[in-house]
Amino acid sequence: IIITTMVMFWFISVIISLYLANWTLRPVMVAYEKQKAFVENASHELRTPLAILQNRLELLFQNPNATIIEESENISESLSEVRNMRLLTSNLLNMARQDNNIKISPEATDKEFFEAIFSNYQLLAESSDKTLKTSLKFDGSLSLDQSLVKQLLTILFDNAMKYTGEDGEIQVDVQKNGSTLILSVADNGEGISAGDKKKIFDRFYRVDKARTRQKGGLGLGLSLAQQIAEAHNGRIAVEDNPPRGTKFVVRLRTSPSLKSAKVSKK
Ligand code: ADP
Repeated sequence: IIITTMVMFWFISVIISLYLANWTLRPVMVAYEKQKAFVENASHELRTPLAILQNRLELLFQNPNATIIEESENISESLSEVRNMRLLTSNLLNMARQDNNIKISPEATDKEFFEAIFSNYQLLAESSDKTLKTSLKFDGSLSLDQSLVKQLLTILFDNAMKYTGEDGEIQVDVQKNGSTLILSVADNGEGISAGDKKKIFDRFYRVDKARTRQKGGLGLGLSLAQQIAEAHNGRIAVEDNPPRGTKFVVRLRTSPSLKSAKVSKK
């Protein structure tokens, strides 16, 4: 009986220790896996433009007597890859700096702040033959980190521009509901499937890798937009924009506790 009891006791304590180890190590493992995936993705993203650049430069060497005009396609494609890499490295640097700890510096913000942003967007939309409609419904002053909110809106607006065709119509609305500021950016573009909606906020996720790469997409914008929303004690959601297109809705809390807000660990 004593031996059976000891074996049972030993068995139960092994089970409990395994359970506790799993429970305590799990978040560390999840964070490690995410970190690993991030480094792998980042390396992959850098490897592609480097490989293209190498091919293009080798092509230039194969024809040493060619003029710059004759080789203009090779040169401009090479430059576009260099631009891609610069964009990627600066985005990675921004993410590394801000990772898990976006510091918020709230400032009193009134309508003029959004009006200035809208007028810049209007110029961009006109130069790409897209239609932009905006609406601004709030009075008085709000407490917001202006540079982060501008960054967030710009990510959504840039995407709406990128993922709509020539007949692109974009609607940007800003309205206040109690202490919540609701920002929404809707477009009549290609839309996002239900399965992809769950993944687009992941770092480096792009629905159509080949096509978004052509459009200069790196799959980092929405992940950053989500971090900015969370840093404002808010959230971002994506929905369909019937009859066609996508709508991103961001809800930001404009409470006085903003200063201590931290981004949840990803
Ligand atoms: P990217 O730099 O590739 O645009 P994002 O993180 O901003 O990266 O977006 C992730 C992916 O979500 C995009 O590659 C694109 O496939 C999809 N997406 C984002 N915004 C839109 C939109 N307005 N319409 C359709 N697809 C979109």
